Amino acid sequence: MRKSIPVLAVLVFLQFSCQEKVQDETKAEGNNDVVQTKEEPTKPEETEVYEPVPPKVTLNASGVPSDAIVLFDGSSFDEWTSSVDSTAVQWYLNDDGSMTVKDKSGNIQTKRNFGSIQLHLEWKSPKEILRDGQNRANSGVFIQQRYEVQILDNNDNPTYTNGQVGAVYKQSVPLAMASVPTGEWNAYDIIFHAPEFEGEALSKPAFVTVLHNGVLVQDHFEIEGTIKFIGWPKYEAHGKAPLQLQDHGDNSRVSYRNIWVREL
Ligand code: MG
Repeated sequence: MRKSIPVLAVLVFLQFSCQEKVQDETKAEGNNDVVQTKEEPTKPEETEVYEPVPPKVTLNASGVPSDAIVLFDGSSFDEWTSSVDSTAVQWYLNDDGSMTVKDKSGNIQTKRNFGSIQLHLEWKSPKEILRDGQNRANSGVFIQQRYEVQILDNNDNPTYTNGQVGAVYKQSVPLAMASVPTGEWNAYDIIFHAPEFEGEALSKPAFVTVLHNGVLVQDHFEIEGTIKFIGWPKYEAHGKAPLQLQDHGDNSRVSYRNIWVREL
């Protein structure tokens, strides 16, 4: 009996000590991996983590990541359908691995639905200049069928700036105009975080970041709702949804190639 008293005391002390340590531990703000304690680390190893291990991603000859879903590589419209009536895509499939909008055939969209994504696509305006303003090579990427990143030939072609190339249409003016000369290929790299809803109510808005030819043009912009041609944007509850490419209906002749997506 005498011997058990010190043992019990030690156990009580250890339990108390452990509880106190747990209470002292706080997560470092903005870092989910390293647990900060109130005591300042004295060794470099104390702030090093080894898990999780990021998955290895390699690039193929076209620069497509190994974990990407290829939506268009020039060979077919297999991943796409008409937004008008869900029939086969009527756009032109070109010999150079691109596709071109067929006037008044309507938007096209992916057969798959997407939530948060990293999207890469390349686009070009026709070399021949046909019209001005919003009617010069207007197309666009409608993420989740609702949130448009504008495509337009803005070279020597001013228009309202929240509707110019790289804009989140009628919501966000791009930070720069980074187009290459008319008729050459542009690249968009888009990081999109899908909105979240609780029932019909928005619980978290969507955010979008856009690089135009490697230049940051939208920096984690908080999307205000479904884009509107006339009216203020508003959110409507939805789940995962297709990506759409726009036929503006005025012989835009915009071409696309090398489209891939990584789900986030
Ligand atoms: Mg457009």
